[in-house]
Amino acid sequence: MSQIQVPAPAASISRPNWTELTAQDLYDKLLALARNLWWSWHPEVVNLFRDLDPVRWRQIDHNPIVLLAEMTPEQVAERASEMVLYTRINQAHRRLKDYLNNTRTSWGAREAGVLGARPVAYFSAEFGIHESVPIYSGGLGVLSGDHIKSASGLGVPLVAIGLYYDQGYFKQRLNDEGWQVEEYLDTKVENLPIEPARDTQGRPITVEIETLHGRLLAKVWLMHVGRVHLYLLDCDVEGNSPEDRELTSRLYGGDSRTRIRQELVLGVGGVKALRALGVKPGVYHLNEGHSAFAPLEVMRQRMQEDGLAFDDALREVASQTVFTTHTPVPAGHDRFDGGLVEEHLGPLRQKLGISFEQLMGLGRVDPQNEHEAFCMTVIGLKLSRRANAVSSLHGHVSRRMWANLWPWRVEEEIPIGHITNGVHIPTWLAYPMVQLYDKYLGPEWHDRMGEPEVWQAIYGVDPGELWETHNALKSRLLEFVRRRVSRQSRRRNEDPAVIEAARTILDPNALTIGFARRFATYKRADLFLRNFDRMAQMIDDANRPVQFIFAGKAHPADEPGKRLIQRVANLRHDPRFAGRVVFIEDYDINVARHMVQGVDVWLNNPRRPLEASGTSGQKAVLNGGLNCSVLDGWWAEAFNGMNGFSIGNGTSHANEDINDSRDGDDLLRVLQEEVIPLFYKRDADGLPREWIQRMTNSIATLAARFSAHRMVIDYVQKGYLVAAGGLSSDMSVR
Ligand SMILES: *Cc1c(COP(=O)(O)O)cnc(C)c1O
Repeated sequence: MSQIQVPAPAASISRPNWTELTAQDLYDKLLALARNLWWSWHPEVVNLFRDLDPVRWRQIDHNPIVLLAEMTPEQVAERASEMVLYTRINQAHRRLKDYLNNTRTSWGAREAGVLGARPVAYFSAEFGIHESVPIYSGGLGVLSGDHIKSASGLGVPLVAIGLYYDQGYFKQRLNDEGWQVEEYLDTKVENLPIEPARDTQGRPITVEIETLHGRLLAKVWLMHVGRVHLYLLDCDVEGNSPEDRELTSRLYGGDSRTRIRQELVLGVGGVKALRALGVKPGVYHLNEGHSAFAPLEVMRQRMQEDGLAFDDALREVASQTVFTTHTPVPAGHDRFDGGLVEEHLGPLRQKLGISFEQLMGLGRVDPQNEHEAFCMTVIGLKLSRRANAVSSLHGHVSRRMWANLWPWRVEEEIPIGHITNGVHIPTWLAYPMVQLYDKYLGPEWHDRMGEPEVWQAIYGVDPGELWETHNALKSRLLEFVRRRVSRQSRRRNEDPAVIEAARTILDPNALTIGFARRFATYKRADLFLRNFDRMAQMIDDANRPVQFIFAGKAHPADEPGKRLIQRVANLRHDPRFAGRVVFIEDYDINVARHMVQGVDVWLNNPRRPLEASGTSGQKAVLNGGLNCSVLDGWWAEAFNGMNGFSIGNGTSHANEDINDSRDGDDLLRVLQEEVIPLFYKRDADGLPREWIQRMTNSIATLAARFSAHRMVIDYVQKGYLVAAGGLSSDMSVR
């Protein structure tokens, strides 16, 4: 083959005249945006990344770091010019800079100024911030993510501490039999918006934690979540044994030895990391028991540096500590035997100058009871002066469950209060709804979204406009579902006809019910099937059809949960359900976002009172979805008769079978007698006026109350400020 001389391309007139400098400048601005997860709750910035390459954007889990790594500055510049993105990029970049620099006028600066020099240290085992950062498994993580985003938005001084899982939780696939198969994928550090955290001298940080059988090392990553610094500990470092290098690979993997070691790294390692960073927290917030070893290390520091005695250190550190419990069943709390505790806490125990029995006593309801295991919730309660559950009902349940810790008190005086969970509105709100709210609530609603009064203006909304916006979002959801279901079929090598059929499943005019959450048996994903034939008729009704979209993972060890998935997913083989009941694989923040933004009804039917709070229904509220739920968790305090639907009457039968059958009957009744008639009752314009009225009621009465802004404000006022100032010795946050 002869060599062909390719002439250098002549600069054409139509080609934009980017100097290298502008291209690089543009690229750097996009990189700066990509490296702060602030972008993820700003739809204009999300759209900016999407516009660079819409197809790739979807393929790479909406990860802007990956997207930019695949493009040169020149390619970006060219694309930006085609799409007229230049101004938008500059604006977004300026907005981020302003956001990071202007904190003086924030709510936090006004109301939580004392935390400025000594911030809150917020510990959580997982953080769900965006689908492209897979260091969460479910509700607890999403709650932590929403908490720190709202703290950022409000300007509350807070740093967050978690673990870096390079394999995260698993990816879910269903095989031909509808059985869940777990896949673990390595996340590459360079594809994430993280960088090594540095100490006060600018050196990368590695913390050392002593155990009886040698040292555990962890390096520390920094992730920017708006104004909040999230520090993530990672055991994959040289110097650790090969086994320990994998200690933080997966969320909730391994046995109880893995578990206690992860919790040692999170709690004790986390406090050491803060020390190395030069951060001096005024408040420690332990989000769930996983991090409850943290106060022990803080006590050690106080004893060593301030010469405090153990009892005084305990009293002082506890007064600075806020503890949130999330688990309404006794079996759900982490417990460890004495051997594991001594192996991992022994060296720290010696420095604290206490005996093995004394240490064990901190984790026992009855300190003297040698048969009692060491419980992370018990030590969390004992080492904090403010403890809270995550809904009003969960508060009652928790006070009863832990009453033995305060045997001299009556149940109402058990010092566990409640702060009901909420969701970060900008994360979960669809862009078309943002635009609708801008129009009716006025632009200042963005700064006041935690205030109920702001939302009253939604009563002025034009019903037709609200309905159209909702239907546009519903169409978007159905498109997403069709794409996913057809992809699932293709992956299973199904018949081309089946794959093709997936493109037209679901009816945009049918009442659409969403159900997505972890498939734990108490959540009863199959409750709607208890009256199987009647449900089949309802779904198949020619005039008033009903359709369901399901999603959710079961814990890898939860066989009964996997059977539930199988039962629901395999309904697609039953002609009465095919195309009307669909299961979307691999529930994550992306799937959640589509679902809560597009369904008519969000269904939740757990066995009461096992749902501590639940937050997914709160996300649906914001987007105009109506909740149909058992009166459990947040819904027990949210439902007012006119802002959604209730299953059951807020009682539960002690016999599980009877309870399930009563709730199953009532679910059917509520659908048949309330939900379906209201949805299909149309006026001359085809509008379901009363339904829209209920959507409006739901938004007006619930959006602010169940927002993470309100939640964080509650934590500041009832927890953080008191803990920071040592204002009160009253342990109750009620
Ligand atoms: C919101 C959310 C949850 C928690 O919702 P629940 O109502 O508590 O089940 C879990 N997983 C994902 C991906 C979420 O977005």
